[in-house]
Amino acid sequence: MKNEKNLRERIWRETSGHCIYCGHPVSLEEMEMDHIEPKSFGGGNNSANLVCSCHHCNAEKGGEPLEVHLLDWSEGKLRRYVNRVETLLDQGKISLDKADALLPLEKLASDEEDFQDEDFQKEYDTDIMSELEDVAGILIELLPKIYRICQRKRRKIMMN
Ligand SMILES: [Zn+2]
Repeated sequence: MKNEKNLRERIWRETSGHCIYCGHPVSLEEMEMDHIEPKSFGGGNNSANLVCSCHHCNAEKGGEPLEVHLLDWSEGKLRRYVNRVETLLDQGKISLDKADALLPLEKLASDEEDFQDEDFQKEYDTDIMSELEDVAGILIELLPKIYRICQRKRRKIMMN
């Protein structure tokens, strides 16, 4: 019982009493310990998998895996959350394991990675090539002019 109270307090202190998900302050009494990886997905009761949450965010997340839940968030909320987690990690308040669990961003992309990569790569390469074509086209036009300007400058220098 005492251990559980200590754990609760430790989790609460990690975020200085703020909900990890929305950043709002919560008292130790109101705090809900959220399982980052839901128990139904094999998440444990250890401190690395527990995080300080307000009631609203914990209820909203429900039993969803975090990487699925994060997809529902606005870009602004997601950006603030990522900054919050990074700051806590930088300050040494949360472990790297916990920060990793809180930012499962690579899982978001992993399903479509192969398809996306290939497609994106093709598009990217095509863009780069068409830019190079444009530059080369301009250079073809300009090189004779640049060459003539250089000749003129050189002659002028020699005459002075
Ligand atoms: Zn919250």
